[in-house]
Amino acid sequence: MPNVVTRFAPSPTGFLHIGGARTALYNWLFARHHGGKFLLRIEDTDRARSTEAAIEAIKSGMDWLGLEWDGDAVSQFGSAERHREVARHLLDAGKAYKCYATAEETAELRAKAREKREVFRGDMWRDVEPDATTASRPFAVRLKMPRTGTTTINDRVQGAVTVDNSTLDDMILLRSDGTPTYMLAVVVDDHDMGITHIVRGDDHLNNAFRQVQLFEAMGWDTPEFAHIPLIHGPDGKKLSKRHGALGVDAYADMGFLPEAMRNYLLRLGWSHGDDEIIPTTQAIDWFNLENIGKGPARFDFDKLDSLNVHYMRQLAPSELLSTIENDLEKKTGNGLSGTERDRIVKAMPSIVDRAKRLPDVVNGASLFCNIRPVSLTEKAAATLDGQQAMLESAATELTAITDWKQDVIKAAIMSFAQARDLKMGKVMQPIRAALTGGAPSGDLIELLEILGQKETLARLKDQATA
Ligand code: GLU
Repeated sequence: MPNVVTRFAPSPTGFLHIGGARTALYNWLFARHHGGKFLLRIEDTDRARSTEAAIEAIKSGMDWLGLEWDGDAVSQFGSAERHREVARHLLDAGKAYKCYATAEETAELRAKAREKREVFRGDMWRDVEPDATTASRPFAVRLKMPRTGTTTINDRVQGAVTVDNSTLDDMILLRSDGTPTYMLAVVVDDHDMGITHIVRGDDHLNNAFRQVQLFEAMGWDTPEFAHIPLIHGPDGKKLSKRHGALGVDAYADMGFLPEAMRNYLLRLGWSHGDDEIIPTTQAIDWFNLENIGKGPARFDFDKLDSLNVHYMRQLAPSELLSTIENDLEKKTGNGLSGTERDRIVKAMPSIVDRAKRLPDVVNGASLFCNIRPVSLTEKAAATLDGQQAMLESAATELTAITDWKQDVIKAAIMSFAQARDLKMGKVMQPIRAALTGGAPSGDLIELLEILGQKETLARLKDQATA
């Protein structure tokens, strides 16, 4: 398909939420799949609700997800003059007309129509010539909708969807203060930006019928539509905050990798057979509109966690360390030394084995930093209670080792336990408590080896004399 151009068109009234991120991802994948363009348009015509902070949050969410857009982001408000020009053109062509009804009159007529269960078409001035005094009053510009026939959208997800034109109102294009409406702005911008495919939430399907009429009134090609079902919670209800309706930044803070998030959002509404693990390069290869599901997707944190585990394990230890380095330094309060870095890289496979999210990796890695004195959990303190003398002798035994390797260390601890007629556990548990302070940890002998003789002895002695 040549020249595919898609867009993501968020209204900057809040953060980049999970549904928006999925819409952005699908538009991005579709464009990348076809070697086309993916554009970002900020729909900031609602001046009262749009904020600079929200624009920044949307952009940084997209950056984090790796969804780079082509060219500069476009401000919809910036094209207001062009939107007005199109409304004037339709007026001149007789495809739109001036409506002199005041807000009060319109509200009254709308209420009456509702009472009678009739469609409110807003067409009170459609066939009326204003007299001289009326003509000097402010007016809105309304589109002359067809009154007969039907409008069909061959939606790439929903299939053919048809409405009777008699249900379409003569929508306002320009308000009486001269500001363009959202419906006008969307259509003009999609045309001017050369958008070929509109992929968005199915809460916009109803708007699409009216937008099609506007494309046709201007004699413009109508883009293809793909309206994606919204995301629901695991219980099938509308997605709430409790379910995960958070900003993308919250997922970054919770410690998910962008690659895991992309894979998760892809599968949340799109499928390729039974494949669950779909890295982004593969997704670009496979993505199409046909495989978007017709039913609402259900958000599931467990699935997201399991994808995150998968992608964390895919990373080389040094890459994973760079990913968490800032957070690790924040936790320990120090920049990483070369020794600490070496230890963490060595320990990474076992750290990641026990981790679900990045904070687990940070915690696991922090044990390999010079964090003396190690702070103790209550349980660790209880384990250490009365073990000071034992730790002192164990430290002496370990001091004698000249070749600090796992088998040598293990043999030394075993012979130490045997000589005192102690079970291994009775020796290992206090040593673990002294080294980790009670933080979750993996194989103890490996921990000792990687930590090194000096740091191990120092931590043991801290507790032996405590
Ligand atoms: N600005 C609209 C929204 O944030 C999207 C409009 C569109 O995609 O056509 O819901």
